[in-house]
Amino acid sequence: MNPLEPFTPAPRFPWPGGARCAVMLCFDVDGETTALEQDPHAADRVTTWSQCTYGPRVGAPRILGLLDHLGVGATFFIPAYIARNHQAMTRAVVSSGHEIGAHGDIHERLHGLSRQQEAEILRRSIGVLEEVAGKRPIGYRAPWFELNPWTPELLMEHGFEYCASGMGDDIPYQYANGMIEIPGQWMLEDWEQFAFNADPAWGSIPQNCSSVYDLWWREFEAMHRYGCCFVLTLHPWLSGRPSRVQLLERLIRDMRAKGDVWFAQGHEIAAWYRSRMQEPGVGDADFKIHHHAPDGCR
Ligand code: ZN
Repeated sequence: MNPLEPFTPAPRFPWPGGARCAVMLCFDVDGETTALEQDPHAADRVTTWSQCTYGPRVGAPRILGLLDHLGVGATFFIPAYIARNHQAMTRAVVSSGHEIGAHGDIHERLHGLSRQQEAEILRRSIGVLEEVAGKRPIGYRAPWFELNPWTPELLMEHGFEYCASGMGDDIPYQYANGMIEIPGQWMLEDWEQFAFNADPAWGSIPQNCSSVYDLWWREFEAMHRYGCCFVLTLHPWLSGRPSRVQLLERLIRDMRAKGDVWFAQGHEIAAWYRSRMQEPGVGDADFKIHHHAPDGCR
C-alpha cells in the first residue's frame, strides 16, 4: 500500500448488492411521553405538553410525507402511550410501508426497573402496538438507549428479532443469547443537537442545521468508507420542524447521490446480518476476526 494514497480500509461488513454502507433511519415518536415519563401531571404544563404533541401531530406526518416523496423506508419506534393516543398517525406509519418497533409504554427508563417490571411493560407495549398497528413488533429500542443486563433475554422470550439500543460497534453484533444488536451512537441523534425546553430544563442551545448537517455528513462519509451501518435517530417533536425536515431531505438526497448505500429498515438489516453470519466460512474470513465485540457480547 502506498502511504501517499488515501487509506481505503476493508469494509466492516458485506452489505447487499455490493453497497458500501447501510443506512437505518429511525424515528422515535416519543411525543408526550418525553414529559410524562418525568412527571405524571406533565399535561398541566400546557406549553411543554404542546411542544411534545407537536411530534406525533405535526412532525411525524410531515416526515412521512418526505419519506413517501423520496421513496425511502424507515423504522419508527413508538411508545405504547403514543400508539394509543395517536392511532391514526400510528396506522399511517404502517400503511406508508414503514416498520414499527417497541419503545416502552410511557418511555420508562429501564435502569432501576426489575426484570419483572420490564417484562410487564414489554408485554403491554407489544399488545398495544399489535392492536393499533395490526402487526407485532420485532424490533426494540430501549428508552434513552439504556439496557439492563437481562434485556436481551427478555427480548428473545418475547419474539423480538433485534434490538437497536447498544453502542458497542458501528455494524450489528450479537449478545450472548444470539439477540442481534443494531447499534446507534449519541452523535447521530437529534436530542443533543436540537432539544430545548425552559422548564423542565431539557437540552441546551439548539444548533444550526448547517452545522448538524456537517456533523452527520462527515460521520456518514467516514462510515461509508469503512463499510459501516449508519443509524440515525430522530424525534419528530424536534426533527419534524420545517428547517430540520429540509436538513433530512438534503441528507438523504446527498447519501443517494454518493451511491453504494443500502437504505434499510431494522428488520431487513437484522435478517441480512443473520443470513451472512450463518453462511459457513464467510464470517470468519470477512469480518469475525476484525470484530472485537464489547464485553458481554460475541
Ligand atoms: Zn425515545
